[in-house]
Amino acid sequence: MNYKDILQNQQKFFATATTLDIGYRIKQLKKLRQLIIKNESRIFKALKQDLKRAKTESYGSEIAPLINEIDFFIKKLPQLAKEKKVRTPLIVSPAKAFQKPVPYGQVLIISPWNFPFDLSLTPLIGAIASGNTVILKPSEYSTASSALIEEMFSNTFANDYITIINGGVDVTTELLKLDFNYIFFIGSTRVGKIVLKAASENLIPTSLELGGKSPCIVDKDANIEVSAKRIAWGKSLNSGQACVSPDYLMVHTSVHDKLIEELKKAFDSLYPNLSEKTKDYSSLINEHHFDRLNSLIDEDKVVYGNLKSKEHLFMSPTIIDNASWDDEIMQDEIFGPLLPVLTFDNFSEMINDLKSRPKPLASYYFGHNKEKQNKLIDEFLTGAICFNDTISHTMNRYLPFGGVGDSGHGKYRFKASFETFSFYKSVQKRSLMEFSLRYPPYKKKYQLIRRFFRFLSK
Ligand code: NAD
Repeated sequence: MNYKDILQNQQKFFATATTLDIGYRIKQLKKLRQLIIKNESRIFKALKQDLKRAKTESYGSEIAPLINEIDFFIKKLPQLAKEKKVRTPLIVSPAKAFQKPVPYGQVLIISPWNFPFDLSLTPLIGAIASGNTVILKPSEYSTASSALIEEMFSNTFANDYITIINGGVDVTTELLKLDFNYIFFIGSTRVGKIVLKAASENLIPTSLELGGKSPCIVDKDANIEVSAKRIAWGKSLNSGQACVSPDYLMVHTSVHDKLIEELKKAFDSLYPNLSEKTKDYSSLINEHHFDRLNSLIDEDKVVYGNLKSKEHLFMSPTIIDNASWDDEIMQDEIFGPLLPVLTFDNFSEMINDLKSRPKPLASYYFGHNKEKQNKLIDEFLTGAICFNDTISHTMNRYLPFGGVGDSGHGKYRFKASFETFSFYKSVQKRSLMEFSLRYPPYKKKYQLIRRFFRFLSK
């Protein structure tokens, strides 16, 4: 069946209004919950195959968040899907007015390979909860995970409701020609631009969940020991292949030497005697990414790490000191375990410089000065900012996830997903009684309207 036919079948199914029923949506979410639990050990296996991911990390970053997300919707969906009453000003009274969240219709989700289950199914859960039908295109790089997702869904959900289509650029290019009602893309800024251009052809609304270079600033008053441990963890999680991984360090010169020493100790304590055999350390996704990362390493600047094996797709956390904005490694998102270190002396000058660069998905600041923290909160545009830790803000379900500018637009996860995948329709129901002020002939109404306009519109 070609993609156009699949979409048409989804349109037909959607037109039956089956997905408008909240009970139906909850039933599908429960079915998905069961599907994930039933396939838990196969999910662990696929993640091991694609990324050599440790079971604990797979559970914590893929299975647990999905179950949490589903449970949230099973509990909260009836409340979320309710119409939201608004006031009616005197000028239109008597009337009832509200906003009603309705599904967009047919949603296309395109996902990346780094957390293949979480980043495919989290948006899918939001789309189901909001009453849409879905075509999901997982990444062609995480082959075992993407194949498992396809198998799981094709045996459980009808194609005219949810279809998984695996493939690479050619497949995505074809899908992007179709007239979806919403496109949700997670991936690189480069491909995000391609998606946005394609979506503009049919004026399709989009969410672009992209990446970028997320700065990690360490100031002179930071607790260096704690900072080092938290940075080392954030940089080595999934071997640095995370969209919110601290991309580079911006360190106050006065604490530079101490931080480097503490970072070395922290990496050593997380992964003693690290090698390709270390169970808790993920591999890179493929040879292409190994070569890409390898070409970014300036051997003269390496002060820690640089252990690697192409055969095993292994690359250890590697500190690259004395980096500068001219270095190859500072031109694009690293998306791997390499940690370039830049320094600063003047906080304001450093922030002004960062402000002139592409807007990051996440930013990290280690330091306790309230004034500086407030300056970052108020003046530095970034998808999120986390103080004195890395990545942990993504574990807070009450903080929506998303970027700004170069790191994308739109938010998702939990309530934010429901708001993303629903269109909030404005509804007004008028009674037959009315003021006749708005109708011509106006005669003396002009003066009356001028005098009472504020009062009538309140
Ligand atoms: P990618 O942009 O290369 O690919 C993402 C998806 O787009 C894949 O499904 C791929 O098949 C498809 N694609 C690739 N090239 C395409 C093209 N020319 N036309 C149409 N579709 C195309 O990204 P990736 O390497 O899979 O993932 C890494 C990127 O994703 C990083 O930049 C990372 O920061 C970002 N990311 C963002 C989030 C987030 O939630 N903001 C989460 C994870 C990853």
